[in-house]
Formats: sequence, C-alpha cells, structure tokens
Amino acid sequence: MAELRAEAERREAACPLSGFPARFHLPAPPAIYLDGNSLGPLPRQTAARLQAVVERDWGEGLIGSWKDAGWLAAPTRIGDRIAPLVGAPPGTVIACDSVSVNLFRLLVAGLRRAGPGRPVVLMEADDFPTDRHIAEAACRMAGAALKAVPRGELLAALGPEVAVLLLSHVHYRTGAAWSLAEAGAAARAAGALTLLDLSHSAGVLEVGLEAHGIDLATGCGYKFLCGGSGAPAFAFVAPRHLEALDQPLAGWMGHAAPFAFEAGYRPDPGIRRLLAGTPPILAMAALEAGVATVAEAPIEAIAARARSLTGLLVDALDALDEPGLLIVTPRDPQARGAQISLAHPRAREIHDRLLARGITGDLRTAPGAPHLVRLGVSPLTLTHMQMVEAAAAVGEALAQLRRVAA
Ligand SMILES: *Cc1c(COP(=O)(O)O)cnc(C)c1O
Repeated sequence: MAELRAEAERREAACPLSGFPARFHLPAPPAIYLDGNSLGPLPRQTAARLQAVVERDWGEGLIGSWKDAGWLAAPTRIGDRIAPLVGAPPGTVIACDSVSVNLFRLLVAGLRRAGPGRPVVLMEADDFPTDRHIAEAACRMAGAALKAVPRGELLAALGPEVAVLLLSHVHYRTGAAWSLAEAGAAARAAGALTLLDLSHSAGVLEVGLEAHGIDLATGCGYKFLCGGSGAPAFAFVAPRHLEALDQPLAGWMGHAAPFAFEAGYRPDPGIRRLLAGTPPILAMAALEAGVATVAEAPIEAIAARARSLTGLLVDALDALDEPGLLIVTPRDPQARGAQISLAHPRAREIHDRLLARGITGDLRTAPGAPHLVRLGVSPLTLTHMQMVEAAAAVGEALAQLRRVAA
C-alpha cells in the first residue's frame, strides 16, 4: 500500500482539479463519502445562494421576481449551463421535473414522432426500475409494445419495428458504460430514435450528445450535478426534432405565450415546450448552484479525474489479493462510469463494516443478481488518497470477517 499511497500523492499533485473537493461540505476525515452517485454532496456556495433567493427574491421581490430575478428563464438558463457538460448545443437542454417524468414525456413524444409503423420501444431488461416502469406505462398509453432484452442482445434486437431505443448510458449497479458512438450509430442504421438516461453520466463523463447524433435524453440533477435531494432533472431534444416534438404533458408553461392566457395550446417553438407547470424555483436555485460548481471544470478534465480515481481504486483493490472479491465494473476505463462495484458473498457485511467507520458506499441488491457493494467515485469531491484508504478499509473489513468466522 505504501507504493499506492505515493502514487496517490503524485496523481493528486498533477491533477488540475485537485482544488475542487474543498468547494464541498464533506464529512470530516477519516470519513469518506462514496455515494455521490446517489446524492451529490452540498457545494459550499449553495446555502448563500438559496438564502438570497428566499430572502431577497421571494421575500422582497415577490411576484416581480419572475422577471426581475430571472425565475421565468431559470429552466433554460440552467439547461444552457448543463448543455456543455453533455455536449449539447445551446437551446436544447432544459431543467425540469424528474427523470421519471422526462422519460415518460420523451418516450411518448418519440413514439408519436416515429408513427404507427414503428410500435416498439426497446430497452435493456436489467435497466434501472423506474426506466422500466415508465417505459411500460408509456407503451400502455401510446398503444406500443415494450421489448426488454438482456444487455448483450440489445443492439442486435434493433429492427424496423423499433421507434425508440431507451438506453442508460452508465448502468446503475455495475457501472458499465455503453459506447454512445456504437449505440447511436446502430439505432440510426435501424431508423430508431435514441433516448438516453444520463443519470449516472451527466457531469462526470464526456457524453457528446451532438457528436453522437443522439435524439433525446434526460438526466438526474441530484447525483453528479450536486443539485440537492430531489433536484429537478434535465431533458434534451436534438434541434432537428424540436419543432415537431409533440410531448404529452402540454401545460401552460410550455405554451408559446403562457401569459397571454389563450384557450388553445400552441407549443413554444423551442425547448421550453417540454415544460408543463410552474418550475420549483427554490429547488432550481440549489440545482443552479450545483451545476455552476461542477461546470467550472471542463467535462474532459472531470472525466479524466474520474478515470484516474477509479483506476487507482481498482489497483488498490487488486493489491488486497482477495480471491472472493470480484470487481464487476469494467476494467477498461473507457467502458465504465465513476463507480466501482464489488461482488462478494458477504457484500452486505462488507458494506455495513465500511459504514460503521464512516465510509459510505451503498449496497445494491436486485432479484436474481449478486449483492453488490457500490463505491461511487464523484471525481470533484474525492481525492486519490481516499481511493487507497477506501480499498484498505475493504481489506480490513474482510480480515475482520475472517477473524469472526475463525
Ligand atoms: C437516479 C436515477 C433515476 C432517477 O429518477 P427520478 O425520477 O429523477 O427520481 C432514473 N434513472 C436512473 C438510471 C437513475 O440512476
């Protein structure tokens, strides 16, 4: 471990983003927060920002703040700050609702766009449950069929009947990342639209929505974007689809002129047509502070730091030389997100022992799948040394478990 600690020091000193963890409220060492992929930690600038929105904009500005404090523009202003993080052009991303709601509206819009000749949504059977539930509900409503297949068969299952390929960029349990170049091209060749769930990649990996010709996407505001628990999500529509996009939750805030109070619905010509109701301004303020903190770093540098941190964590776990410990996350740094998931027959006890000493990962169980200890590696909030320390703690937990058994 001494060599790994020296390597951690070298990498931290050489990384242009090593100042970022100081911008977040984090538990005091030796605690290590490895759950930023579930709930991103609190940026230091968020509390003051929220206080200003509450006391100045709401308290003093009252209704005038819709214009004077930029409340009306918040969904697109925040969307435009998220856009460079996911490789999207300005005017194509909006902050709104939750990932679940956005998946529903984009799936139905995609099915409508594809028309009756393509009555199928295709997805990975083992995707995050909300993606599956929403896809089933959207298909039920739109009169389409859901085809859910094993991961390895997904791209080969694209056929002329598929309207939308629904894909989670990074798998929530294993951390495996799809090649968007490959998946996007396969969907395009089959004439299907690609709808991405970026919950585990927005703000942490290069996504390249425009570069890969992705049609539709949504992603989470409270994970790597550090927008606070229940933060609004975001949604993306490629410019070529915007004008004709018919989304099912057509509310007044998506109207071309919401304050003209027209009886008939005319959608906004741009990305605002995705809105349904009034944006949650207090939650938006926290999201904006989170996005502002993250977006100060170029996404390429964030992704490079994530690969460096997860790579060191893998090396340190390998150095434990524990035959029962299986790293299920891909070893190729280009093929994974910012997490390392571990399978072990005693995963639950490892997780509990880590937690008892202040190392917060999480346990992911699913029917028919091995229990996994999921170590989230939010690159702006963690250091290389913490990767070595976390791996050492896993080793100590295993040694303790053996002693208890003996
Ligand atoms: C976290 C997560 C979500 C969150 O959905 P919400 O509706 O915003 O709560 C959705 N999909 C995936 C893959 C996630 O990891």
